[in-house]
Amino acid sequence: MNYIVMDLEWNQSTSALGENPRLPFEIIEIGATKLDQKFNITDQFGAIIKPRVYRRLQPKIKEILAYDETYLKTGRPFDVVYREFKKWCGEDIVFCTWGPLDLTYLQQNMDFYYMKQLSFPLKFYNLQEIYAIQKYDDRKQTPSLEKAVSELEIEINAPFHCAKNDAYYTAMIFQKMDHKRLADMYSIDYYHYPTCAEEEIFSQHQNYCEFISRTYETRKEALEDKNINLLRCNKCNKKLSKKIKWFSNNSNTQICVGRCWNHGLVCGKIRFKPARDGEIFVVKTTENIDKKEYLRIQSRQNDLRMKRREKRIHRKH
Ligand SMILES: [Zn+2]
Repeated sequence: MNYIVMDLEWNQSTSALGENPRLPFEIIEIGATKLDQKFNITDQFGAIIKPRVYRRLQPKIKEILAYDETYLKTGRPFDVVYREFKKWCGEDIVFCTWGPLDLTYLQQNMDFYYMKQLSFPLKFYNLQEIYAIQKYDDRKQTPSLEKAVSELEIEINAPFHCAKNDAYYTAMIFQKMDHKRLADMYSIDYYHYPTCAEEEIFSQHQNYCEFISRTYETRKEALEDKNINLLRCNKCNKKLSKKIKWFSNNSNTQICVGRCWNHGLVCGKIRFKPARDGEIFVVKTTENIDKKEYLRIQSRQNDLRMKRREKRIHRKH
């Protein structure tokens, strides 16, 4: 098995009107570094892609990119480069990226050219998230690649914002990480989601469980499905009674809290994700929380209730 640390550079339309809805982000470079099972760097890949949809660089992208339009003209078409990349990757690989976007945009570009899809479900390591957990004990912190490189005192000998170099820096960060619990820290890519119950994905991790549902026509239909609204313990899978029932935390998420007599307080979170044709699918996670977090959620729910009540009173007067 090999790890493929992949990084992409992409471009987008310079105007909203000029955007192709099937390809909002056009890949202009694929960079990658290969590591073996013992995390030794064994090979590097880098190729420039000649853009077909957006030939001019979007100004903000142009500003940070290590090269310009003239250099892009030396590139080759996406499908040619991607086939070469796939061959270079070989079989039995796991993708690793800095953040969750690269695999989404890669698959979007593959779909644009009607290419064969990646495997499903697609497991990968989001090294930015793993770094944040190990360094700051906070998965929501998302440090830039430059920041992590400087924090780890990795020597900077090539410019950032060139996919080949960024992949190499990311691979060096990966080498310096704690690999003990790595096998448990994979993410699942949501670009291709389950379309029927048989394809639904349930993955149990040491500290949380994740469930990726089939599609539903409406949120209401999803919330009425037992598979969605039942709260189970992330450790023993026992059905739990709720201390706080599902409530809308914001426009896209619902939260609830239950208690397992063996494993304590469990927080359930539902995120609605857009699917094709206006449908939705659900990503549900369950994880243990402490008393402090429970009280925070309770006061959040009360605040939201108060706000709604105030709004109603305002409307009456
Ligand atoms: Zn339990």
